[in-house]
Amino acid sequence: MRLNGRRESSNVEDRRGQRGGRLPGGLGSLSGLGGLGGLKKGGLSIGVIIVIAIATLIFGGDVTSIFGGGGLPLLNDGASTETSYTPTAEDEELAKFSRQILASTEDVWTRQFEKMGKTYRAPTLVLFTGAVESACGQATSAVGPFYCSGDEKLYIDLDFFRTMKQNLGADGDFAYAYVIAHEVGHHVQHLLGILDAGHSQMSQQSKTDANKTSVRMELQADFLAGVWGYYENQLFNSLDDGDIEEAINAASKIGDDILQQQGQGYVVPDAFTHGRADQRMKWLKRGLSTGDMSLGDTFSPRYEQL
Ligand SMILES: [Zn+2]
Repeated sequence: MRLNGRRESSNVEDRRGQRGGRLPGGLGSLSGLGGLGGLKKGGLSIGVIIVIAIATLIFGGDVTSIFGGGGLPLLNDGASTETSYTPTAEDEELAKFSRQILASTEDVWTRQFEKMGKTYRAPTLVLFTGAVESACGQATSAVGPFYCSGDEKLYIDLDFFRTMKQNLGADGDFAYAYVIAHEVGHHVQHLLGILDAGHSQMSQQSKTDANKTSVRMELQADFLAGVWGYYENQLFNSLDDGDIEEAINAASKIGDDILQQQGQGYVVPDAFTHGRADQRMKWLKRGLSTGDMSLGDTFSPRYEQL
């Protein structure tokens, strides 16, 4: 991507180096939700990031991640996250990049909402290291980047981009931009009432059906990331050769089928929450190639035809 001289969003909270903090009293009993305790920074095992869509019920906000489904708030002892964090040059570059991409999503979605006769309310990007507290609960980096509708914030540990590169084989600036745009896609769904309707539907469905609803929402977030990419390039002529392929490659690496196969050695379609690799690629491509919001209905087609 060519981003030289591009605007950086000011809707960013830089909480890097801060301790993740404990939740206010009373929620400590949730520590039983753990199970990801074995995760090591940089050694992320995607397979153990299991879908638990209960965050909504407990915290009154919807958590949605690039993978891993409903998001899993993790509590730690609150004592281990104090760091003397000094960002590397690469960290600073990634932070700047993230601010620029966020700024672009603001430009693009402000215009798109105007077209729909609506007003876009920009979300806030929270940069954190290790663990973070959100209106949806406390989370660690193991959850991956996520969006919380309770506070309309996106949470990203920039280390995730290194994980993409080193562990997922998904490298490239436009691949990273896709991740941010996917989370912003959830914010767009939230502003349009889709995210909240979807999560309330999920809370009344069987596990299997709720997972299918989740897949529909996630594929739409991929589509919306594509729509952003389409207008990003139209507005700024920023895409280089190979950029589109980087994003599509990233989508192919975070399909549920791929992550399950890697993590547990077999695939359980009923447990899919984000869609297969081919589906994620398809919906991202559809947004990227058309920019046409009217083509992003992932709720009407039969599930088998997504
Ligand atoms: Zn998502």
